Amino acid sequence: MSLVIAGSIVFDTIETPCERRERIIGGSCSYSALAASYFTKPRIVSVVGDDFPEEMIEKFNEKGIDTRGLVRKKGKTFHWEGKYGDDPNQRTTIKTEVNVLREFKPHLLPDYREADIVLLGTIAPEIQLDVLSQVKEPKLTAMDTINFYIENSYGSLLESIKKVDIYFGNDEEVKKITGETNLIKAGKKFLEQGPSLVVIKKGEHGVMMIGQEFISGMPAYPCEDVVDPTGAGDSFAGGFLGYLDKVNSFQEKDLRKAAVYGSVMASFTIQDFGIKRLESLTASEIDRRFEEITKIVSF
Ligand code: AMP
Repeated sequence: MSLVIAGSIVFDTIETPCERRERIIGGSCSYSALAASYFTKPRIVSVVGDDFPEEMIEKFNEKGIDTRGLVRKKGKTFHWEGKYGDDPNQRTTIKTEVNVLREFKPHLLPDYREADIVLLGTIAPEIQLDVLSQVKEPKLTAMDTINFYIENSYGSLLESIKKVDIYFGNDEEVKKITGETNLIKAGKKFLEQGPSLVVIKKGEHGVMMIGQEFISGMPAYPCEDVVDPTGAGDSFAGGFLGYLDKVNSFQEKDLRKAAVYGSVMASFTIQDFGIKRLESLTASEIDRRFEEITKIVSF
């Protein structure tokens, strides 16, 4: 099986009530690919500027991430700045500098076009649609987005949603896109558009999956020490699809397990700034948290 992940690779400036970090590496593609790399060898599609450190690309390669689809262009790498209040679920975007991502026209390599699973991470919906149109016969497609595109590219975003099998969104985004205040109603509205599964991330309260045939809820891994919530959603999606790519099966039981692995990967991400924690995990740390969540949900 093979997993292609398209998304942003960026510099993030992040301010939490305790600390401020300038221009650390982030982006939907970085988080998702690192999370997925513990299960499979993801292939990435993205763009960075000539200010992006080569060592980071080498680090991606060391983690088994295929970076042949990562383009380096003359100019500045995308830069995002966000600020968190005391409630880690409340985030304010201070700045979005799109830079080289603005003109990005991805050309997928022949082997990327054969991908079994495609994750369209947070990136302009026009780019998501372009990537999707180049993959020949994917078995499973999924997407995520962020407020910026709900506000600036709503029409194209709806086109992307129509074309994927799984929509990953947080509760606020899902309500905003559908205009519903009830999550079940919002989830069902998505199912009418095209996706067969909606995965709604609710921060510390876990996730809810709404499919054509089932509804399921999973708790988040109980973390007391949330350092930086950035990238939790992207790590969730990477862990979820990385696991499905590994097991090569999309039955309901696999989707439920994938949601637990997604939660586990997100729980590591939020325990340090940026991608730091995701860079150095071990399989046994991941398995231990998987078992702990399993115990929490058994009755
Ligand atoms: P998450 O916390 O999972 O919503 O993902 C946050 C990541 O998305 C950060 O690393 C941001 O740099 C990245 N991001 C923020 N805004 C955008 C945008 N407009 N396009 C692409 N990536 C973005």
